[in-house]
Amino acid sequence: MTFNHTPPTALLLLPDPVVEHLVKQVVTASGCSVITCTDRQSASQYLAERSPSLFVLAERLPEGSTLDWLEPVLRRNPAMPVLFYMGKKENAAQQRVLEMGLVFTFSPPLLYQEMQQRVTAALRRGSQLQDWGQRHIRGNTDRLRQRLDELETMTRLGQTITSTLNLDDVLRAIVETAVDLTGSEEGSLLLMDTETGELYMRAGRNFQEDFVRTFRLPITDTLAGSVLRSGQPVVLDQNTPQKIKTSYLVHSLVYVPLKLRGTVIGVLGVDNRTGGMLDPDRTIKVLLALAEYAVIALQNAGIFSDMMAERNQLQAILANIQDGVLVIDLDERLILMNPLASEALGLEQNSSWLGRPILDVLEPEPLRQLVGGIGKNNSNHVDWTAEGGRVWSVQLTPIPEVGAAITMHDVSHLKKMDRIKSEFVHTVSHDLRSPLTAILGYVELIDRVGPVNEMQRNFIKRVQASVQNITRLVDDLVSLGQIEASFDLSRETVRMDQIARFVAEEMVDEFHAMNQTLNLVIPNELPAVLADPLQMRQLVSHLLDNAHKYTPDGGTITLAMEVDTNQLILVVQDTGVGIPSLDLLYVFEKFYRGANVSTETSGTGLGLAIVKSIVESHQGRVWVESPPGGGTRVAVVLPLARQS
Ligand code: ATP
Ligand code: MG
Repeated sequence: MTFNHTPPTALLLLPDPVVEHLVKQVVTASGCSVITCTDRQSASQYLAERSPSLFVLAERLPEGSTLDWLEPVLRRNPAMPVLFYMGKKENAAQQRVLEMGLVFTFSPPLLYQEMQQRVTAALRRGSQLQDWGQRHIRGNTDRLRQRLDELETMTRLGQTITSTLNLDDVLRAIVETAVDLTGSEEGSLLLMDTETGELYMRAGRNFQEDFVRTFRLPITDTLAGSVLRSGQPVVLDQNTPQKIKTSYLVHSLVYVPLKLRGTVIGVLGVDNRTGGMLDPDRTIKVLLALAEYAVIALQNAGIFSDMMAERNQLQAILANIQDGVLVIDLDERLILMNPLASEALGLEQNSSWLGRPILDVLEPEPLRQLVGGIGKNNSNHVDWTAEGGRVWSVQLTPIPEVGAAITMHDVSHLKKMDRIKSEFVHTVSHDLRSPLTAILGYVELIDRVGPVNEMQRNFIKRVQASVQNITRLVDDLVSLGQIEASFDLSRETVRMDQIARFVAEEMVDEFHAMNQTLNLVIPNELPAVLADPLQMRQLVSHLLDNAHKYTPDGGTITLAMEVDTNQLILVVQDTGVGIPSLDLLYVFEKFYRGANVSTETSGTGLGLAIVKSIVESHQGRVWVESPPGGGTRVAVVLPLARQS
């Protein structure tokens, strides 16, 4: 490109020295400096770097015609005027020259004046083309700059939307941008009121506040309504001024739809009241882009407010629920604690606990053990008596990908009732003992005081068997009552392996009768526990009795023991009928029997209640597992006696 302030240059490629001399004279006289080339190659080189104000060349050079060579040169320098020297009047060449758009040609006879006219005309044409080119480029540059500004504005708006949660701010920014970018006077964002079926103004620019507040537009017979119905932009230009609503007269207006998943939920529009036309195509483009931003903002706000509503709801539930709730993450850090939980644990109600390791927060030993057992094969439940006597049933539930929830349910009243019931049962069973002993005594005396026949003897035997059953039951109840009331607290160092072997020996015949195999898996050198030996015998015997009773012929029963830090773990596992999952929670309750156990199977449902009482009075834990089809596994954990 040659600018006005640089001197015009003429490039000459003319093999005939006479012609070249004449052209040089003419060109120099019209103010051009001259560059001469001798062949196409040097001319090509020059043209590759510069664009002369005029190119004078001959149609024919010693190396051949320049016509084919010139074509690409002209494509690269479209504004460069060319003065073509045709040696002879060749019709075919003349024709091609015209087709190339080269208007300036000259041929012999060479007349100075005529040459001068051609050169002047060619130079003028060249400078006209250059002017036009510059104007064109300037226009393009302006448009590009404008587009760049728009893009920048849009980017800024995008940032506002992602960084601001205030919907009002975002929508106002969108309408303001719409007005600025389209050069309009007013802008509005109308949304559909689903209750009234009208459009209202959610955000406006350059409208009076009152107008915005009271603006209501039916969707029938209105322009905005038609956008809502058709989903297509509407353009109103100066030629068709219309009254939109009553007080809203515009000269030019563009409305575009706001579409959320294919449904039109509102309208974004700009208008000019006083005159000045909007460029419809550009305005529609800008508004459609902004409308998408508006929809994203509305959607974000929807998600956010839904989220807040859900969160508030959850918080309200957790704050008012009558259970304590703590949630810990996978690193066992506290992430949630509701007021009841902090009250139960005697912790101040504030957020300073959040994020701390749960073992720093929980002081009571049973709860620490419960949490310490996460991921291990331990019980997920513990009854914890807080200071002040409240009893909490604490349940730990692992939650995949979150961590675990600890729920605390106040069972003080149940415990109280349980105690009253136990006391009652204990008293009654105690009082039943003497009459039962009396009945047995008198029944034994019957055949001593006179003859009885065979049938009477049979009846007496039955009475004796039944009374013995009742006596056993009463004995169980009395011993349960004693354990619960912590009577007979005798503590000795007890070798559980010896107890287990002793009880197993006692029951050998019973196992044998059912073809059951009893495996004892007991390591050597088992440390002792501090316990009541009689109660320990009772415990093992109840567990083995159950395993034997609820395992069909030919089954296998395993009694295993192991030591884990300062605890002894005793497990009785069988291959029997198992316990239905619904019953698992209740088998430790008195008189509870599983739904899968027939009433003909002997038993009163006291065995596991006794086991639990014994274990708890020894500060231990007991739990039962029964995977479907996998028999039953009862585990007892007892603290080891301290080694002195
Ligand atoms: P009792 O022990 O007083 O003679 P019981 O065996 O029915 O009677 P528990 O020992 O307390 O009572 O057991 C309660 C219930 O738990 C049983 O009735 C049975 O349904 C279930 N149960 C206990 N141990 C087992 C086991 N090893 N296999 C299957 N079910 C069992
Ligand atoms: Mg039993």
